Amino acid sequence: MRILIAEDEKSLADIVKKGLKEEGYTVDVAYNGEDGLFMAENEPSDIIILDIMLPVIDGMTILKKIRKAGIKTPVLMLTAKDTVMDKVSGLDSGADDYLTKPFFFEELLARIRALLRRNSGVKTSIIEIGDLIIDTASHEVIRGGRVISLSAKEYALLEYMAINRNKMLGRTTLTEHLYDQDFDLDSNVIDVFINRIRNKIDRGFDKKLIHTIRGAGYMLKG
Ligand code: CA
Repeated sequence: MRILIAEDEKSLADIVKKGLKEEGYTVDVAYNGEDGLFMAENEPSDIIILDIMLPVIDGMTILKKIRKAGIKTPVLMLTAKDTVMDKVSGLDSGADDYLTKPFFFEELLARIRALLRRNSGVKTSIIEIGDLIIDTASHEVIRGGRVISLSAKEYALLEYMAINRNKMLGRTTLTEHLYDQDFDLDSNVIDVFINRIRNKIDRGFDKKLIHTIRGAGYMLKG
């Protein structure tokens, strides 16, 4: 999952970025509104964390512009003050959630998970696909009652496929949602990761969950 943070408080942006990366998310940061708007319009983000008070272009203007442009990416607004008006106008302008600064990182994570699963029809932090169970809060993965150990990147890829289960996901899509803008898209790294995950969750089971769509990409299907 790829997250864009638009936040001009560099220390806050950087600590959130570090924390999110440790959780396996791919993170882009914009330190002003102009970069934030450009990246919101051009990077394939799964969530945008948008500070309201930003230099050059403020967060509310960015939100209105991207919604007007038809971009439906979930937006979590950061408000400096706990003012009702900020929240109301943010939600009315198309924000999906808001968080008042200062906040606990754990709460930000929980709100991100809730936003990511909102469009997937999953109501709790547990995703079940056949006998595969993925706990998106603890990152525990179980198949057939056995706990499966995955690296952070392997987990991130599996979770992205689980949230988008039954959908064909091309290599470019997978790469874009798992790596930041500096990554070489021509690399076959996705195939390498898919093979590793396959060895861990499908090997030894008659029913395979990861399907290769020849010449196109992959699908997780129960
Ligand atoms: Ca700010």
